[in-house]
Amino acid sequence: MQTIVTDLPEEAAWFLNRGGIVAFPTETVYGLGADAFRPEAVAGIFTAKGRPADNPLIVHVQSPDRIDEVASGINNHALALIARFFPGPLTLVLKKNGSVPDIVSAGLPTVGVRCPSHPVAAELLGHCNHPVAAPSANVSGRPSSTDWKAVYHDLGGRIDCLLRGAPSTIGLESTIVDCTVDPPLLLRSGAVSLESLLQVVPDLQVATTCKPGETPKSPGMKYRHYSPEASIVLVVESPKAFDPGHPTAWIGLSAPPEGAARCMVCLSPEEYARVLFGFFRTCDAEGIRTIYCELPPETGIGRAIRDRLFKAAGK
Ligand code: AMP
Ligand code: MG
Repeated sequence: MQTIVTDLPEEAAWFLNRGGIVAFPTETVYGLGADAFRPEAVAGIFTAKGRPADNPLIVHVQSPDRIDEVASGINNHALALIARFFPGPLTLVLKKNGSVPDIVSAGLPTVGVRCPSHPVAAELLGHCNHPVAAPSANVSGRPSSTDWKAVYHDLGGRIDCLLRGAPSTIGLESTIVDCTVDPPLLLRSGAVSLESLLQVVPDLQVATTCKPGETPKSPGMKYRHYSPEASIVLVVESPKAFDPGHPTAWIGLSAPPEGAARCMVCLSPEEYARVLFGFFRTCDAEGIRTIYCELPPETGIGRAIRDRLFKAAGK
């Protein structure tokens, strides 16, 4: 299949409105979208990514007043979170309504809904006559794509269109809160921090990591995720030096030990989040064998960085 690369949201929407599959920029990471109401179009996302069928997709709507096209029974907790954080990097799990096909929600009675704040994504959705189901635009298991070249590397020739935009400004996937339970449950950390969620929902609970054999609250939680080819070493206390004979990289907030073949010292946790997945991809392209990742403090977006690092390390 030929992948059309365009800068025009209207052209990309043309494909979506005809049942095609389109990658597009958002503030979190690039998404891979299809008409959420067409099961055969949504099936194409799973094929292109090699995504397991039991991993549900997030449905993207252009504005908060279009949430009721896909969800019903929106309670006061959800309304408060929508009022404070939509549009933005927050996904709410809500009761799904009958118009959402089972393939989108992987058979669950609920649906994840997000309203991106990215102007190009908003323009794209504005040209569509339906909501857009979209997971991250990467081959399943690999780091999410935070720029269009990463999308092309993973999915070029396997999707109809790639809407080119600037690199994602956040760099990590959305925060996910399940509002179908009381109190609501934080399923995945992201740029909307636990601290800021607690200001709106003081009794919010945090989902614990699922143990082998348990049914995860969020199906995607059970899969190995965000992984580069290189092995990941989580750094609590930094080694003094690396073995110069072994291609090693370093990413973190502190200065690296001597001998790293490639290193990235971030000025803030926000920068760490923004560059992390691109750094993983660069390391793979350069044949780095081991990436040392410094664990940031568990506050603000640091919580989400730690989550992705643990998952990338297979922990
Ligand atoms: P991605 O867009 O690739 O980050 O994947 C979306 C993630 O959202 C999935 O891996 C799930 O863990 C989560 N998700 C989507 N829909 C639901 C839902 N209805 N209930 C719980 N988690 C969901
Ligand atoms: Mg993903």
